[in-house]
Amino acid sequence: MDAFHIEVDADLPGVRRIARSADLPRPHVGVIAALHGDETCGLSVHHALHEAAMRGTLPLAAGTLVLIHGNLEATQLGVRYTPTGYDLNRICNLAFRATLPQSRWGYEHRRALELAPLLDDLDAAIDLHSAGAPTVPFAVALPGAEELSRTLGVRWVTHAWHEASDIADGVALARVASRGKPAAAVECGQHHDRQAPRVAWAITARFLRSLELWDEPVEPGERGRLLRIFASLPKPSAEFRFVRPLQGFERVREGQLLGRDRSSELRSPADGYAVLPNDAVPVGKNVVYLAREDP
Ligand SMILES: [Zn+2]
Repeated sequence: MDAFHIEVDADLPGVRRIARSADLPRPHVGVIAALHGDETCGLSVHHALHEAAMRGTLPLAAGTLVLIHGNLEATQLGVRYTPTGYDLNRICNLAFRATLPQSRWGYEHRRALELAPLLDDLDAAIDLHSAGAPTVPFAVALPGAEELSRTLGVRWVTHAWHEASDIADGVALARVASRGKPAAAVECGQHHDRQAPRVAWAITARFLRSLELWDEPVEPGERGRLLRIFASLPKPSAEFRFVRPLQGFERVREGQLLGRDRSSELRSPADGYAVLPNDAVPVGKNVVYLAREDP
C-alpha cells in the first residue's frame, strides 16, 4: 500500500489535492467537476479518487491531482447555477469585471475570480459534465488537445468551438488551453444517467493514462472521430420548434428543414452533424451546432 498526501485547500472551498508527496509535484492536473451544479458525475469521480488515495491503491504515477468542485452553491441547490448568479463556465475569462458593476455580481462571479489563479496554475485539466437531454458521451477538445481527446474512449470529439460560437472564451478550460496546456471537457451522458459516473471515471483514467500519470492499464475504448464545429444556429423566436426531434450527432443535409416558427424556416446551411440540439433554449441561444468530420 502506498501512502498518499491528501490536502484540503483551506482557502478555496471545494478544492482538494492528491499527490505522492507533500511538496505537490508537477504536473498539476485538474479534475474539474460540477462547474454546473447539477452535473454530479464528476463528483463521484472525485469521491472515487479520494477513496483510492485513502486506501493507498490509487495508480497515480506522478504529479498532483487537483480536484475542483466548481459550483458548490448550485450543487447544494441541485441547479445549473444559482438563481441570482450566472453560468460559471461562461465567465471564467473574468470579462465581467469590465462590463458588470460589482453590485450585480452573484456567487458565480466571485467563484470565477477565486478559481482563476488555480486554473492558471494547472498543467493539464479534464472537465466532467453531463447534459440535460439524453446524449452519447462526447468530448470537447480545446485547441491543442485534439489528439489527446481522441484517446478518451468516446466516439465523438468536437473541436474548434471558438470558430463558430461565443461560449468558448469564458469556459474554465480556456485558462488552461490558452497557455498551451492540454485541456478537454466531456459530456458523460444525461444528468441522472446511472452510467454517467462510470463513464466519467473511465474517461478520467484514460486522460491520466495518456498523460503517462496512470500506472494501471485502461481499456482503450474506441478512437474518437474529430468533428469541427462550423456553425451555430440561434433560436429565432419563442415559438420556434424542430420539425422533429434531432438526435445529437445525427447527420443533416444541406437545405434540410430543421425547424420553424410562424414566419420563418430554419434549414441546415451545409451537410454535417447536429451537435447539442435543443429547441428549449432561450431565444437567441443556439438550438443546434453543426459539425463536419475532419479528414
Ligand atoms: Zn455542464
